Amino acid sequence: MRASVDQDGCISCELCVSICPSVFSMNEDNKAETIEDDIAEEFEQDAEDARDGCPVSVIDLEQ
Ligand code: SF4
Repeated sequence: MRASVDQDGCISCELCVSICPSVFSMNEDNKAETIEDDIAEEFEQDAEDARDGCPVSVIDLEQ
């Protein structure tokens, strides 16, 4: 699974980082970014929860 964040729409709420800190972090502009584009299987559920929880729906996941 691969993750990406549309940083233009990110409102810096940090929810994704709190749900799934192994995949998401905040960059120097206080926007979410992916630490690794390829998500380890053990973190896929957390990444899906982060995507589903993002209030502005800017997290995209692809198999
Ligand atoms: S949950 Fe969405 S809006 Fe919040 S920091 Fe993550 S990508 Fe940005």
